[in-house]
Amino acid sequence: MRFEIVTIFPGLFAGFFEHGIVRRAQAEGLVTVGVHDLRAFTHDRHRTVDDRPFGGGEGMVLKPEPLAEALLSLGITPKAERPSLSQSQIQEADAASTRVILLSAQGQPFTQAVARDLARFDRVILICGRYEGVDERISQLYCDLELSIGDYVLSGGELAAAVVLDATMRLIPGVLGNEASGEFESFGLADTAIITNQRGVPRSQHGAGGLLDYPHYTRPAEFCGLRAPEVLLNGDHLQIRRWRREQQLRKTLANRPDLLKRAVLSDEDLRLLRSIEPEEK
Ligand code: SAM
Repeated sequence: MRFEIVTIFPGLFAGFFEHGIVRRAQAEGLVTVGVHDLRAFTHDRHRTVDDRPFGGGEGMVLKPEPLAEALLSLGITPKAERPSLSQSQIQEADAASTRVILLSAQGQPFTQAVARDLARFDRVILICGRYEGVDERISQLYCDLELSIGDYVLSGGELAAAVVLDATMRLIPGVLGNEASGEFESFGLADTAIITNQRGVPRSQHGAGGLLDYPHYTRPAEFCGLRAPEVLLNGDHLQIRRWRREQQLRKTLANRPDLLKRAVLSDEDLRLLRSIEPEEK
């Protein structure tokens, strides 16, 4: 999978790509990244990428022309100029094609589900805004999606692009050392969805089914007077599985009760929740 990042600060990404899973995924050829300096697509002495907003007001706006040129250099033309395809051709072309994304505080929320969807594409282009944002016509003409990484305002889209790249790339098959570990995490799929793969669900784990992850412990068994839960030390996979599920439900109820409404819950989960809820009040 290839990521293309369009930014006025290409240097911001250097360290990020040189560490951990992103570095390994590139070394193994599973992911490639191109970082494109927006100023390379200007034609004036000052390499101007911004201008004052029409209508007045604070700050500057990223001009459309350099962005359009940057996108053209990546083979992206305005949506209206792309050849029209039949519905079946669109579906066929879809997975093997490109998603053009504008990072924006006004975008739709970037979630694990969006990351899973993006991981199906051959190429994702991430446009980083700066100043007051990007001339709206770039989004209208070129972008498939506007994505926000949270309800706060960043100074630029670069951190957001790094977040989208990181969360998406780790869902590409082969990128994580242990292939299954992407499935047994917060916001992961339900057991029923995971069971379709060859290995199925390990005896001591549960697919999150939209819940948060359970707490993790490692050696030493006792730390600062706190002992790791006995159940995790005794090797009984069924008990471990039950304990982990209960902890997932507890964590989600305490920190993100909104997720419970959309989660895939079994009858046993619902029973457990009913027993936890009175304790929480
Ligand atoms: N005027 C904009 C607004 O109020 O929505 C904020 C512009 S912000 C200072 C500059 C750039 O940072 C944006 O164009 C966008 O690319 C990026 N950005 C800021 N917050 C973001 C968020 N929550 N998610 C994704 N990108 C964000």
